[in-house]
Amino acid sequence: MSSDTRIRLEASGEKQFGPCACCGEMTKRIWGFAYSDEVALAAYFVDWNPKHEPMEAAFDLILGDWGDHKTAEDRSAVSLTFRQTKTGPAFMVIDAEERPVAKSPLISRSRSREEVLASHELCTVIFALCDAIYLDEPRLTFLSMPMV
Ligand SMILES: [Zn+2]
Repeated sequence: MSSDTRIRLEASGEKQFGPCACCGEMTKRIWGFAYSDEVALAAYFVDWNPKHEPMEAAFDLILGDWGDHKTAEDRSAVSLTFRQTKTGPAFMVIDAEERPVAKSPLISRSRSREEVLASHELCTVIFALCDAIYLDEPRLTFLSMPMV
């Protein structure tokens, strides 16, 4: 992926599930697709609970090949948590195995934090995707509210 490639988002569904065991509030989930040059790069899923403090969101990405004849064998899951900190927004890669996305029929495996961080190429793609989702997804504008 060249550095001038712009990531375009296509918002898809959203739902609520829960209620959360700790606060009784429903967790929200939105999802969509991220494209680069009209090629699907990833499906993204973002979960958050509006009642939780500090606000934290889970970003799950399904990366790989989305071509017509491709299957779950060609795709894997990567997960991150997002937090707004005093120094700005922060993403942290976590083990995708711990997330519901690990059971998705769209993937054949979930990547660990260690595996993701060991690949500079993968990290570049993932952080570009998360950045685009954070900045451009209209349903996530509340995430960019500064900390008080
Ligand atoms: Zn809760």
